[in-house]
Amino acid sequence: MRTYIQINPRDNVAIVVKAMPAGTELMEGVVVRQDIPQGHKVALVDIPRDQPVIRYGVTLGYALDDIEKGSWINEFMLRLPTPPSLDDMPWGTNIRTDLPEPPVRTWWGYRNPEGGPAGTRNMLGIQTTVQCVEGTLNVAVERIRRELLPKYPNVDDVVPINHAYGCGVAINAPEAKVPIRALQNIAHHPNFGGQLMVVSLGCEKLTLDMLVGPENNTPENVVVLQECRGFEGCMKALMDMAEKKLRILNERKREELPLSDLLIGMQCGGSDAFSGVSANPSAGYAADMLVKGGATVLFSEVTEVRDGVHIIAERCVSQEVRDKLAAEMRWYDHYLEEGQVDRSANPTPGNKKGGLSNIVEKAMGSIAKSGTSPIVEVLSPAERPTKHGEIFAATPASDIVCGPCQMASGIGLQVFMTGRGTPYNLAAVPVIKVCSRNELKEQWPDIIDISAGAVATGEKTIAEVGTEIFEKIIACASGKDQPFAEKYGMHNYLCIFNPAPIT
Ligand code: CA
Repeated sequence: MRTYIQINPRDNVAIVVKAMPAGTELMEGVVVRQDIPQGHKVALVDIPRDQPVIRYGVTLGYALDDIEKGSWINEFMLRLPTPPSLDDMPWGTNIRTDLPEPPVRTWWGYRNPEGGPAGTRNMLGIQTTVQCVEGTLNVAVERIRRELLPKYPNVDDVVPINHAYGCGVAINAPEAKVPIRALQNIAHHPNFGGQLMVVSLGCEKLTLDMLVGPENNTPENVVVLQECRGFEGCMKALMDMAEKKLRILNERKREELPLSDLLIGMQCGGSDAFSGVSANPSAGYAADMLVKGGATVLFSEVTEVRDGVHIIAERCVSQEVRDKLAAEMRWYDHYLEEGQVDRSANPTPGNKKGGLSNIVEKAMGSIAKSGTSPIVEVLSPAERPTKHGEIFAATPASDIVCGPCQMASGIGLQVFMTGRGTPYNLAAVPVIKVCSRNELKEQWPDIIDISAGAVATGEKTIAEVGTEIFEKIIACASGKDQPFAEKYGMHNYLCIFNPAPIT
């Protein structure tokens, strides 16, 4: 088992695979000077003040002071480099075509009557125009689950799309298009089988016409609580409509489908210094297999791509794709500036404890989950893809905001890489959890689905764990397996990205 990881021969630092006491010889001629926590960096040479600290072959930052060989390098010892320029980034200079062959080219899904990617689950999704209806709807959902769902065994679940948007918001602000688009697209998520059921209060700013269009604003699809008679009237209207929709959904059957009908999202959260070595590259390998087989894979998280944007641009298949990538990055730079922060606000205390010193180091790891495939499209937050292949879907990096954005884009399943550990999940979309180190799998054996820890220790290859992830994706998407979090029914609130003002 290896004891340290130096990723690129140019690197002047390595990370330790396990915590290492002061005085240990890391490699010939390098003795560690302090106790080094697991995953943290050690200087392999003397690094004078203002000289670059290099990992992944990339400058993570510049030394604030002289760093002696064998020293622990933490977040207080680096100055951030300026982010790469967004002007005239070279594109198409790294288009890879020799992607790994997937072991299978079909899966079992629910064809989407509205077209687009197929569903991985068969669910009644109940949309809401406004937060005000949530309490009433949740009571009805409990009753639907208890009294109706057992009669329709082909339907997996009933999922209320509760959210904080809909009223008390500047609905005409330019950026209101983001949350509105997210909710519009979630209503047509492939797992909901084209069956619209919408609950409105009756006086909200996000009107039914705005959410589902006048053509869908019909008594067959819509319950308006202010038009129901009392609590029991509300319950009856909701139960009656749910039953009609469940009857239709119960007729849906899984079919063997090509991978081109599969849309997968990649996300990471609670990352550590191993994430970019084990979990994310393994997920990237699975992503490359999916793309090779014709599937579509989204990766996201703007602040975690910003410092490696030039690497992403090199994989863009056209100038148009490169330009949209730059535009999304510019939009986010501006968004952060307005809030008087920059990308350095991203790493969390947990990221830093896990050995990630700054956003550059986090970005290099984060990008690895996109694999190496050509990037065929860039989406604004919550947009639907129009192409097959690897796609950058711009979203915040926050786990609980990125999730619903990718869900709005139509993902049937998300693969989530973590180093520190998080039980995050989405109610309507299964989330497979992949951890970066064995210790986390030992601590949470029944929450983490796959450990990529053996890649960190050198006992397995990225291809081996990547293939394992691919197979888990196909089994879970096909309904033959379930991630732990789905089995337990634990999931997070849908936090819809709203960059526009609240009134
Ligand atoms: Ca995240």
